[in-house]
Amino acid sequence: MKQFSCGDVVPGCTAKFTYETQEEILEAVAVHAEDAHGIKEVTPDLISLITARIQEVRFA
Ligand SMILES: [Zn+2]
Repeated sequence: MKQFSCGDVVPGCTAKFTYETQEEILEAVAVHAEDAHGIKEVTPDLISLITARIQEVRFA
């Protein structure tokens, strides 16, 4: 599983995203970015910022 914490990019945001693939995370983050942060367009810069902070997580 992969996990992204929005707070790593937007200080104070507590949203966390855990999905099988990076693509699913980016989709969910795009929706969240618009709803919660008023970011209408996820730019390539923003995508690299996000993907740089996606972590691999394992559940026992
Ligand atoms: Zn957020």
